Amino acid sequence: MSLHGTYEDDNIFAKIIKGEIPCVKVYEDDVALAFMDLFPQSEGHTLVIPKQAKARNLLEMPGNLLGSYMQRVQKVAKAVEAALKPDGIVVTQFNGAPAGQTVFHLHFHIIPRAEGESLKGHGTSGQADPAELEALAAKIRAEF
Ligand code: AMP
Repeated sequence: MSLHGTYEDDNIFAKIIKGEIPCVKVYEDDVALAFMDLFPQSEGHTLVIPKQAKARNLLEMPGNLLGSYMQRVQKVAKAVEAALKPDGIVVTQFNGAPAGQTVFHLHFHIIPRAEGESLKGHGTSGQADPAELEALAAKIRAEF
C-alpha cells in the first residue's frame, strides 16, 4: 500500500469503529476511538483513530477535522500517562507501507516508555494476553 490510494471500507480499524470486530476500548466519543494495540511495543501501547473521516493517513485527513482529533490524541496520551506513570511517551504515526504503516486508516500510536527498557519492534511483537490488555485499559479508562 503506497502513500496514495483508495480508502478501503473493510480495513480492520473501520471494522472496529463499526463494531464488526472487537477491541479493548479505552475511550470513545463522536470524534475518535482509542483502544489497546493487540501487538504492543510496550505495556500500555494505545491507538487513537478518527471516526469522522475516511483518511488512510495524516496527509488525507481533512484539515478542519484535524484539531479535534489531535485533542483526543493528547487526551488519551494524558490518561495513559496518569494511569501508567511511564518515564516517557512516544506519540507517532506512519504514512504509507514504506514508512511502516500496516493498517490504512489514520491512527496515532501512544507508546509508554520506561527508562532503560528497549522497545519491541514495530509490527514484530507478539499478540498480547487479552486479560492483561483489559487490566491496562481499565486503569487508563479510570483517568478520563
Ligand atoms: P501501523 O503499522 O502504524 O499501521 O499500526 C497498526 C497497528 O495496529 C499495529 O501496531 C498493530 O499491532 C495494530 N493492530 C493490528 N490489528 C489490530 C487489532 N485487531 N486490534 C488492535 N490493534 C491492532
